[in-house]
Amino acid sequence: MSVTESRIPTTAKYTPPLQSERVFRILVEGVRDYAIFLLDPVGNVASWNPGAERIKGYTAQEIIGTNFSNFYPQVDRDAGKPEYELKVAAETGRFEDEGWRIRKDGSRFWASVVITRVCDENGKLIGYGKITRDLTERRIAEQRYRLLVEGVSDYAIYSLDVNGNVTSWNAGAQRIKGYNDFEILGKHFSSFYTPEDAAAGMPAKVLQTAADTGHFEGEGWRMRKDGTRFWSSVVVTPIRNDEGILIGFSKITRDVTDRKKLLDQIQKHAEELELRIAEREQTNAELEAFSYSVSHDLRAPLRAIEGFTQAFIEDYGKDVPEQGLEYLSEVTAASKRMNRLVQDLLNFSRLGRIHFEMQPVRVAEMAQEAIKQLSEGREFVHVRDLDHLRAVAHPQTLVQAVSNLVSNALKFVSPEKTPEVVVSAERIGECVRISVKDNGIGIASEHQEKIFQVFERLHGQEQFPGTGIGLAIVKRGIQRMGGRVGLQSKPGEGSTFWVELPEAAENV
Ligand code: ADP
Repeated sequence: MSVTESRIPTTAKYTPPLQSERVFRILVEGVRDYAIFLLDPVGNVASWNPGAERIKGYTAQEIIGTNFSNFYPQVDRDAGKPEYELKVAAETGRFEDEGWRIRKDGSRFWASVVITRVCDENGKLIGYGKITRDLTERRIAEQRYRLLVEGVSDYAIYSLDVNGNVTSWNAGAQRIKGYNDFEILGKHFSSFYTPEDAAAGMPAKVLQTAADTGHFEGEGWRMRKDGTRFWSSVVVTPIRNDEGILIGFSKITRDVTDRKKLLDQIQKHAEELELRIAEREQTNAELEAFSYSVSHDLRAPLRAIEGFTQAFIEDYGKDVPEQGLEYLSEVTAASKRMNRLVQDLLNFSRLGRIHFEMQPVRVAEMAQEAIKQLSEGREFVHVRDLDHLRAVAHPQTLVQAVSNLVSNALKFVSPEKTPEVVVSAERIGECVRISVKDNGIGIASEHQEKIFQVFERLHGQEQFPGTGIGLAIVKRGIQRMGGRVGLQSKPGEGSTFWVELPEAAENV
């Protein structure tokens, strides 16, 4: 029986009838992705399918009868690889390999090869069946992947077997951890952990979590070969085979010590800052308490000065010369002014201390109440567009703020003008803005911010009397209620001061 007529290797005992051999031949002829061919006992090609023609480039006519060693690169031929493969197949029944092979046009392809021994009924070797597959694309992809992983130096990328022993090691791993691959391959990965973490069973926990949940991610201190520590960011992923059985883990580690140091520094700064803020708050609170009690205590002697001056004038005024009475009235005026100052300071200081009970309020009612508190000039104040608007506020504080703004609007007007003040309100986004517009002297833009500070005044007492605390009270009160203050003004063209507070729901 010639080799070409021999049976294709099949399982023993079964002798296919002629009919099924024909079917089998048709099958082999139809295969295009595999080169399937037969060799005689010395390796000469005895049959050739279209797949073989497609992959290797030879027609059946060209190749049958020539030796299969032509498919091997010269180095392999020189090394006796083709003969060796046949020898192994003859002795063991089978030889499997992956390697470079040569096409007719001289180009290479990466082949996956299975050579199977073919014997006759008496067990005599009559040739070999050979199946070759072109895996060049897969090989290129694998190599590209390997090059990629090996070339990465910012990340340690390595793999572990199921027990946690290192099975692959890239350049990044070497750079970050300091071990060469020959030093670490086969060793357990727990040597990367700090003694404390290793003793606490961290390595096993990490692998367990990755195996159970499909992923482990974490940060922590790790050890380099030289014993130094680095802060690492780690991702561990389990590797499973096609049957889903765990066969190892891949591990990506990054040295993020610099980031950690930076974060630690920021954290430290934040803590220091918080400490300083707390200290400052404490100092502020003490100062507030101090100024409150001083202001409070000042009122009693002031009342005494006013009271006794008054009593003196009543009892002895007739014996005092005109000039003396004038002096006394200066004393009374000065103590009255000081009383107002103390009163304003107390109000200002109280705003920093009290707890605000916020509630929905009708803006119209607040404005009316503020105007009612004015000692004079009410007839010059007009109210517009306040209906239906509601804000969330602490009523007394809002009334005081509007009242301060309206009294300023009446006060800072040149003497030859009749004051004209309009209080209005509008909805801006989710807030209600209450505006107080006047026809007064106006304020230059460079002063517009500082006038909200305590004791900041732009005029002398003779021109426009005041304590310089009114706007500071407005600002502190509104801000403590979660609102904002502001103004638009030009010298000589009047001013519009405004306060904004959150709008309250409709059903107030
Ligand atoms: P006071 O009114 O007691 O002086 P304020 O804190 O209320 O203190 O105001 C600070 C300063 O801001 C005033 O002295 C004045 O110079 C300026 N100012 C406030 N309101 C107006 C206004 N409506 N028009 C012009 N200037 C104003």
